[in-house]
Amino acid sequence: MRAEIISIGTEILMGEILDTNAQYIAQRLPAMGIDLFYMHQIGDNRQRLVDLITQARGRSDVVLCTGGLGPTEDDITRDAIAESIGEQPYVVPELEAHLRNFFERRGGTMPEQNIKQATIIPSGQSIPNPRGTAPGWWVEKDHAIIVAMPGPPAEMTGMWSNDIAPRLAERSPDSVLISRTLKTTGLGESTLDEALGDIRAGEDPTVGVYHKADGVHVRLASKAVDEAAARARIEPVEAAIRDLLGDNIWGADEDTFQEAVARLLDRRGLSIAVMESCTGGLLASTITDVPGASQFFRGGLVTYTAEAKIHYGVDADVIEAHGVVSNETAAAMAAAVRRQFDADIGVGITGVAGPEPHGGQPVGAVCLGVETPDESYATGYTFAQTRAAIKARAVTSALTLIRRAAIGDLSSGSSGIYRRL
Ligand code: ATP
Repeated sequence: MRAEIISIGTEILMGEILDTNAQYIAQRLPAMGIDLFYMHQIGDNRQRLVDLITQARGRSDVVLCTGGLGPTEDDITRDAIAESIGEQPYVVPELEAHLRNFFERRGGTMPEQNIKQATIIPSGQSIPNPRGTAPGWWVEKDHAIIVAMPGPPAEMTGMWSNDIAPRLAERSPDSVLISRTLKTTGLGESTLDEALGDIRAGEDPTVGVYHKADGVHVRLASKAVDEAAARARIEPVEAAIRDLLGDNIWGADEDTFQEAVARLLDRRGLSIAVMESCTGGLLASTITDVPGASQFFRGGLVTYTAEAKIHYGVDADVIEAHGVVSNETAAAMAAAVRRQFDADIGVGITGVAGPEPHGGQPVGAVCLGVETPDESYATGYTFAQTRAAIKARAVTSALTLIRRAAIGDLSSGSSGIYRRL
């Protein structure tokens, strides 16, 4: 079964919103055995949309549209589908009553232009939208299915799970594409690619290597008659990769890096405290995004100035001698905050988030320190990016160091200052 997605809305073409609807749908099609061949983004122009729908339904089995189902003049999706297949929309009395009722329950009367949300065409069925006023359309004509879903993501995803996905699953052929993603840290993309060597040679499952913000991901994918058969092919290859990469693998599939680090700290009974400068509390915020963080997170300090660092126990002489953005200061911050909170692991982050250089260091220079009862390690990075991205990279790198501290792997650092305590 071949599909294409059409995201409708001039806001998308203006770069005002991200097309997360298409991403959501695209992520779900492989497991249903549906091949996605095209994704389109198109503005609110009726003729161009008619042409695109006509082209899409001529070559694909399913055309999945989102957006443009509102009541206004520029909401053109229904009219464009109707015109493409040569049918006339008409008002469905039950839908109209439902819509008028919806407005009355909210203490108003329905604006007359909303009546277009109560229409359907002869080849179509209306799909309920419990989260909004615009019902969807499921249209079947000349062996092609055309689906229209609302633009607001909550409405679209609700309609997808309740109605569209189950209907498509009934129609899709007996093959599914199942994937498994192993998430790694500590190895570069090309090193990992090389290390996978023979494992990558097999054709089923296919093995892809992708560089991501939280490390390098290895994605195994297999197409089979059902999920169990696909998983049976993936499992031995996954086991071989786990043997090869060991501790470099921190999680799988939907796991986030902070959750993985949190689980590790929790399992090992290790507490942590952080002193942050350029990240302004982002590390503490990221760690506390994980439910149950109070089990291991003792607290954090945002010491933005040199004075604040000194006030909370960083040796003024270290800052004076090495500068506020230095490995030595980061190590001293880690030591100070570990003492302040009586934690097993202390973390220090100091750097230049930009846009101006600071303390004799360029924009993007970040130094991280980590201290445990037995060892201390500090190292520097340069992230040549925007302010927000520099902060995010600093946090990911800090989580990497926390993980290394928890598994006793700090001494393997190839640069920076390592000391046994
Ligand atoms: P409404 O009934 O609310 O008018 P609609 O079906 O007409 O819904 P649009 O007017 O096209 O939808 O979009 C409404 C809002 O939904 C947009 O302002 C945007 O916030 C969100 N939206 C629309 N399309 C997408 C998309 N492809 N990805 C993510 N969000 C989207």
